[in-house]
Amino acid sequence: MIEIDGSAGEGGGQILRTSLALSLCTGQPISVHRIRAGRPKPGLMRQHLACVRAAAQISDAQVLGDALQSRELHFTPGRVRPGHYEFAVGSAGSCLLVLQTVWPALMLADGPSTLQLSGGTHNPMAPPFQFLARAYAPLMQRLGAAADLQLRRAGFHPAGGGEVVVNVASAAQSLRPFDLLSRGDLQDTQAECLAPGLPRHVAQRELDVLCEAMGWNMDPRQVLPLRQNEGPGNALIATLTHAQVTEVFMQLGERGVSAETVAQRLVKDLQDYLRLPGAVGPHLADQWMLPLALAVWKTGVPACYTATELTLHATTNAETIEKFLPVTLTTERTEDGWRVTIQP
Ligand code: ATP
Repeated sequence: MIEIDGSAGEGGGQILRTSLALSLCTGQPISVHRIRAGRPKPGLMRQHLACVRAAAQISDAQVLGDALQSRELHFTPGRVRPGHYEFAVGSAGSCLLVLQTVWPALMLADGPSTLQLSGGTHNPMAPPFQFLARAYAPLMQRLGAAADLQLRRAGFHPAGGGEVVVNVASAAQSLRPFDLLSRGDLQDTQAECLAPGLPRHVAQRELDVLCEAMGWNMDPRQVLPLRQNEGPGNALIATLTHAQVTEVFMQLGERGVSAETVAQRLVKDLQDYLRLPGAVGPHLADQWMLPLALAVWKTGVPACYTATELTLHATTNAETIEKFLPVTLTTERTEDGWRVTIQP
């Protein structure tokens, strides 16, 4: 039984999700205490509960404490079964965080899986769909863990209603850790705006400010067509395709925040990433750690990557991973930003 202090380090939902993912991958039971203790609404929120239930469903786990607001969880996984699953968050909470909880274990399973997920697809403090599809999934593919992601419908707070379908191939025999030390030459930039249910000028103003500040010509920008039942909501998304890695940055529109401010926040994210040569940005830096550590553990081959920034999410994730896997994670500051090395 691995004891996890859910309030350690960053102290949010990520400790719980990483612990569930690694409990599934290693078969080790976990006991998580003080879940999200420092958050304004501590304990399991609907999104976190959906992660627990999804993890339990794919592994026939024995679970104690799987209730809303619960601050303690005992989780004993059984054997992970690949297959067809439907996971509903039941609110606008991010269904992509549910995906990230079960993806590692399903990629290690001995057959393919198909997941239908519903909930939020563009949430604050969570990876948006385009980030997982364009930035994370290609790295997973290169790792030997192919997956196909489709956005059926976007879901925003508070309405939710997003739908995503994901096919996860079995990578049990195909994992190949690799080093990601530079991003390579910039090949393409793309700006796009989702603004279902909002006046069209909102999207145009966001794209104008973004493209002008970045010196991007107007051709690649898009206002994406609306689909029925989506929104209301607003996500401004920029995709930077470099030869070795694609990065996706998003800012969400908020009531009371001008379109120009939303765009300026995204410009700041892009400038922060472009200022340093590290291969991945702050969000990929914390999320890439888990699949790469699993690949290092499974193959015994070390791997490293560079990042522009290491957040508290990343360092907390490293500490959680080391509790489960016989790997050593080291982080060092360099001229490029940070270097993360994972050794068996
Ligand atoms: P809590 O409510 O307890 O803070 P949470 O369950 O909402 O927790 P976090 O623990 O904060 O989630 O983890 C959020 C995850 O989402 C992190 O891996 C973070 O890198 C990722 N993330 C947040 N924003 C983005 C973004 N714009 N693009 C990609 N990933 C993101």
